[in-house]
Amino acid sequence: MKIKAIRAAVHRFEAKVPLMKKPLQRQAVVCEVETSGGIAGFGMTGGHFLPHAVTAALNREFLPVVKDLDARDTEAIHEKVWWKLNQRSMTGVVSSALSALDIALWDIHGKHAGRTIAQLLGGARDWAPTYCTFGFHEYDFDQLVEAARLQLKKGHRRLKMVVGVHKGGWQEDARRVRAVREAIGPDVELMMDANYKFNPVDARQLCRAIEDCNLTWFEEPLYQNDTRAMADLRSHTRIPIAAGQNEGHRWRLRELVLHQAVDILQPNVCYCGGYTVAQKVGHLAQAPAGRVPSRHAGGGRDDVRQPAAAEGQRDQNPRAARAGVEAQSRGAEGHGGKVMGEKEGRP
Ligand SMILES: [Mg+2]
Repeated sequence: MKIKAIRAAVHRFEAKVPLMKKPLQRQAVVCEVETSGGIAGFGMTGGHFLPHAVTAALNREFLPVVKDLDARDTEAIHEKVWWKLNQRSMTGVVSSALSALDIALWDIHGKHAGRTIAQLLGGARDWAPTYCTFGFHEYDFDQLVEAARLQLKKGHRRLKMVVGVHKGGWQEDARRVRAVREAIGPDVELMMDANYKFNPVDARQLCRAIEDCNLTWFEEPLYQNDTRAMADLRSHTRIPIAAGQNEGHRWRLRELVLHQAVDILQPNVCYCGGYTVAQKVGHLAQAPAGRVPSRHAGGGRDDVRQPAAAEGQRDQNPRAARAGVEAQSRGAEGHGGKVMGEKEGRP
């Protein structure tokens, strides 16, 4: 099962979105790995960030390093790639390329073993709840509400909307979030994603304005994904903070854990180094805090384990007010775990 060839290319595709006249234009890098055993594996990474540099890296730089290694030896391949191509622990192009390669390697391993990647990862379960990113910034106020209702009609019960890109600032975002919450009712999960757009002051103002909207999480709220600033924001709101989907290796994700910057860690297999690294990040998140990270590959949310609050502290924690969510005490890290919504959304 030796690696013989890598073929990576940029693919363009259109995504039709309700209420928009023109489809969204998107790109992705797809990586095909060919082996001596005749099995080919496919991986991918995002096309937003220097995609042609990623394909050049895979086709020209990675192949000579990994050629003739057994595709199933993912740890050995990662070690060799790091020593040959990334001794200074950089992220960006090298991480994206490694992610696409790694996903293809796990695909090969699974095809050869006759097992799914979920089984190769330990087989904890073969399903995952999903959510729908519906709330694009191109929508005006009325379209946003209508788009939310359309997704409900399709059966979605978890919706995510973009914030931080409107002329009216956080105040306009607050109005948009509240309008969606009122339109979808209290029982549908609602998330918001700022894609790093806010400064800490505006993020805190937004959180204050919509604390009562029962958001499931606030994703990537701050510039530079600043861990200490996110930890500060987290201490001032009961809206759970989520981040990590664009971090390029496990040490950056570790910073989010060490600074207690997030409630939900979001390693993205398409950017963090593939399943090989995402699995390590899962273990990292479980070890100190009893949490399991969200898998995040452009969407989807896994269970979120949160440590139970210590007795007597629960009522003091504003997060305790969130229905269905076990309160989390800063003083109770590692106190124990409770699965939030373990069975919810199970098909
Ligand atoms: Mg996001």
